[in-house]
Amino acid sequence: MNLSVKIFAALVLSVIVGLIAGEAGLPFIKWWIAPIGTMFINLIKMMIVPVVFTSLVVGMTSLGDTKKLGRIGFRTVAIYLFTTAIAIIIGFAVAGVIQPGVGSELGAGTAPKVKDAPYIMKVFLDMIPTNPIDSMAKAAILPTIVFALFIGVGIIKVGGDRAQILVKFFDACAEVCYKIIAMIMEIAPIGVFCLLLPVVAANGPKVLLPLLSVIVAMAVGGLIHAVGVYSIMAKVMGGHSPISFFKGMSEAMMIAFTTCSSAGTLPVNMKNCQEKLGVSREVTSFVLPLGATLNMDGTAIYMGVCSVFIANVFNVPLTFEQMGLIVLTGTIASIGTAGVPGAGLIMLAMVLQSVGLPLEGLALVAGIDRVLDMFRTTVNITGDAAVAIAINKMEADK
Ligand code: ASP
Repeated sequence: MNLSVKIFAALVLSVIVGLIAGEAGLPFIKWWIAPIGTMFINLIKMMIVPVVFTSLVVGMTSLGDTKKLGRIGFRTVAIYLFTTAIAIIIGFAVAGVIQPGVGSELGAGTAPKVKDAPYIMKVFLDMIPTNPIDSMAKAAILPTIVFALFIGVGIIKVGGDRAQILVKFFDACAEVCYKIIAMIMEIAPIGVFCLLLPVVAANGPKVLLPLLSVIVAMAVGGLIHAVGVYSIMAKVMGGHSPISFFKGMSEAMMIAFTTCSSAGTLPVNMKNCQEKLGVSREVTSFVLPLGATLNMDGTAIYMGVCSVFIANVFNVPLTFEQMGLIVLTGTIASIGTAGVPGAGLIMLAMVLQSVGLPLEGLALVAGIDRVLDMFRTTVNITGDAAVAIAINKMEADK
């Protein structure tokens, strides 16, 4: 049986066992099963900084010139922004049809404490590390990327024998990282089962049913975006059939679904893109880490769906201008969203605030956020990979 089939089987099994166990089984599951899941995700996280850093340095040195990097960088960010804006519009459209929250008696609970309003320039400010070791210690991906880029450029500029020693060294390190990731993935079915079981047991039908319309809207929006936009991108821009694209991505998608973390899925996504989709190491190591932090199409869909939902629940009709503003702030907010579980909920506050929707709505969404996060994270990382295959083809056709 191949690995993705095993992971899928584990996923299905965890849903069945979780529903049977329910809240009664929760203490046992939390005590004995959940920590095994955490150990698995920690193993993957352990590899984020080493694999991003070493493979990016190698990727840079194999690019050979900085002009090429500028070109790849510009195209990557442009496609990322474009797909994100489409995602929010799809979120709106689906929510417009399903109308989550209409006629509900959910009422307002107490809003969770929202952190200081996120400030967009901070994303750019935080990109430059004042102390790269500190950034790596904190697994801050963007500053780590920037540092790796400088090391790469430095190596190219030094050139000659001395540079070759480093190129070989980092190349060997990157290879070791990929081997370790492959080893960790062998136990992925167990990890996925143990991660998902507590979620299913805790969020049984009781929690999910009242907000089913939001979950359905999120899932349908995610599906339309993935099947529509990514299939077209895979076919037209990436030279892959949609089936081979999604098949190649299946492991990473399931890990994203269970972990709800783009950053946590990054090592697996990098492995899948290189081994199954044939994306070069230089493109993978640049496009994917950037995407894991900047490109969040699933989160963008969520912003669209939740704004409509909250507007419906509180009976505030959304105007066309407000929708335009949501697309704008939602795109920016999704850039500022960290690739960790629950980050999108905090950024949703920024979007709601920008159009004057009640922040109390957050409390309603918070209860099911984990489930919504599963869908959005899966879309998020799939979007990164779709852009990676597109950029890879553009570079190969050069
Ligand atoms: N959990 C998402 C991710 O890591 C971010 C979010 O909460 O929207 O991709």
